[in-house]
Order: sequence, then C-alpha cells, then structure tokens
Amino acid sequence: MADFSLPGFTELIRRAARPGKTEVLAALAAERLDLEGLAALLSPAAEEFLPQMASRSRRITGQRFGRVIQIYAPLYLSNYCANRCLYCGFSAENRIRRRCLTLEEVDAEAQALIDRGIRHLLLVSGEAPQVLGVDYLAQVARRLAGRFDSLSIEVQPLGDDDYLRLFAAGITSVAVYQETYDPELYRRLHLAGPKMDYAYRLATPGRAAAAGMREVGIGALLGLNDWRAEGLALGAHLAWLRRRFWRTGLTVSFPRIRPASGGFKALTPVSEQNLAQLIFALRLFDHDVGLLLSTREEPRFRNGMLGLGPTRYSAGSCTAPGGYAEEGLGDEQFAVDDHRSVAEVCAAIHEQGLDPVRKDWDRCLQAG
Ligand code: SF4
Repeated sequence: MADFSLPGFTELIRRAARPGKTEVLAALAAERLDLEGLAALLSPAAEEFLPQMASRSRRITGQRFGRVIQIYAPLYLSNYCANRCLYCGFSAENRIRRRCLTLEEVDAEAQALIDRGIRHLLLVSGEAPQVLGVDYLAQVARRLAGRFDSLSIEVQPLGDDDYLRLFAAGITSVAVYQETYDPELYRRLHLAGPKMDYAYRLATPGRAAAAGMREVGIGALLGLNDWRAEGLALGAHLAWLRRRFWRTGLTVSFPRIRPASGGFKALTPVSEQNLAQLIFALRLFDHDVGLLLSTREEPRFRNGMLGLGPTRYSAGSCTAPGGYAEEGLGDEQFAVDDHRSVAEVCAAIHEQGLDPVRKDWDRCLQAG
C-alpha cells in the first residue's frame, strides 16, 4: 500500500464547504460514512442538524464503548525543545524556565499520580533529542511500566527501531499530532528544527503502528486553519491507518489553542459548537475510534460532552515538568481550562451515569 497522502488543502476546504442539506440528510441516514459523507457532516449545512448528530453519536458511542470513560493524565518529562513552532509555549525562542526531570523526579511525579488514582499515563516532552533521547525514554518506560496499565508517549517523531525499542521497554501507545494538514501553513508555522519536515511527521503514526504499538493517536491543533478541512484530513488519515494497520487501536485528539508563552493567538477561532460538530462527525465516520477531550476545555463543556462521543478524559493535568509532586520545576506548555482534581472529574462522570475507568486493560493481554 502506498504512503498516506492527501489532496491539496484548498481542495479539502472546498469539499467540506460544498455539501448541502440533501447530502447532510443522506449522511445522517447512512449506516457507514465514506469521506464524502464525513465532508457533509463537517459542512456549514450540517450545523442545523447538530442535535441529530449528537443523538447518533451518543447511540454509537454507547454501543461501542458502553458507559466507560477512560481517565488519563500527562506527565511532562521536559520542556526543552529544538523547534520553533509559533503557537507553542515550549518553542525554542521563548524565554521560559527549562527543565528535564531526573529519573528520581519522574518517579516522584509518577507516584503522585498513582496516589491520585491515575493508571493510564501519557509521557510528554518537547522535541530535543540531545536532552531527551530514546535512551532516557527507555529508562523511564522500564521504571514505570509495572506501575501503570498503559504508558503512552507524545514526544518527537522517532524511527522504526526506536519505536521497537520503546515498545519492548513498555511503551504501549504513541500520539503524534500533525498540527495542520496544510503543508503550506505548516511551513509558515514551523520556523526551525526537525519538525519542519512535514512528510516525516505525517508518516510517523504509520511507523509507530508498524512497530507494533497497541495504539496510535493523531490530531490537529484547532485554531490554525479551516477546522472543517482539518477534520476531513483527519478522517482520511484515520481511514488510511485503519486499512493498513487493522490490529492497531486508533485515537483522535481535538486540542484547541490555549494561552501560552509567546502569546500566539488562534488564526481561525474554533467555537465549542464547531468542536462538538467535529467530534460528532468523526464518531459517525469511525465508530471504534477513541476520542480524547483534554483539560484544554473548561468543565462546563467537558461535562456537557459526556456520553456524546468522547471516550477519554484527562484529569488533574499539569502541563509543566514537575507540578504533581512538587511545584515549579519548569514552565508550562499552555494553560489548562479545567482545573478540577482527578476525583472531581470522576465524580462529574458518575453524575452523568457513566463510569470513569482508570483500568480497562492489562499489560499481560499483550504478552507475546
Ligand atoms: S509544539 Fe512540540 S515541537 Fe513545537 S515547540 Fe512545542 S513542544 Fe516543541
């Protein structure tokens, strides 16, 4: 099978803007959607059908995932970064307090999260291989693998052998977000560093899946570009990964731009209604994909979306290295908008008749 590729972004914008009411109704009536159906549900014409989309999304999510919401938390290992990404607080030119946690500090942070009930851990760092390379990640994974049910990474894109090595050390999932699927805008937002290579990043989810990772996560940073076209690109990427790596679990994240050092402002603001439409459309497009809603969103919106499509919520998150066991080791990547504790998020999930699940998989299932 050929590498993943997309039509030009202008074409994606056109496809997601063009459908009318007839196409939206046909997509809502279809049992399964192709990319044209997804485009219809992402279109402006679908906005008046948001309640119907929510209702279908709720039904499909209930059928596929039951009442379960998986709870996870990020553990930031480092905020050093070799890249200049205009939208990010960790961007190399920003004057922030930089820090890479020692292995002992990682242990302390991990224990603080375990004490709060976290069993699914997302290890996050800026992209600075000279500070935080595969050796360090493998050491961290070996120390933590027995203490968490799943260990995911959101770090620099790595090569095939690196993913094989990290998988062997206990990493089970890889998240890598394309930020924007528009190559031209990507070039203007990424001014220096290895992240300038759009194609290498785009191929990264496939490399991670090929290495045997149990799960691979993709996403676009919302607020950089036309969200409807980004949604269509996400759908195309998702469908390609599904066809090629049918054994790999897939997830999609929907990060909206938040205040961060550097003061970047969204280029094309995405409203809560837009975000909800995107989530419902992707749920109707792919019934089995895990959908993440992070603490970038405020409690009111996260509570309102419970049961309607997202299946994973982060909770009690800190976006700086350090911050769980002790305060102030380094500066944060962005400001979160949901400051509730893990226990408070779980209580809100219970109130909606859902089950916040901290353990829904065991490493032994992956033996061999
Ligand atoms: S988005 Fe990632 S690669 Fe870019 S500056 Fe931030 S941490 Fe570094």
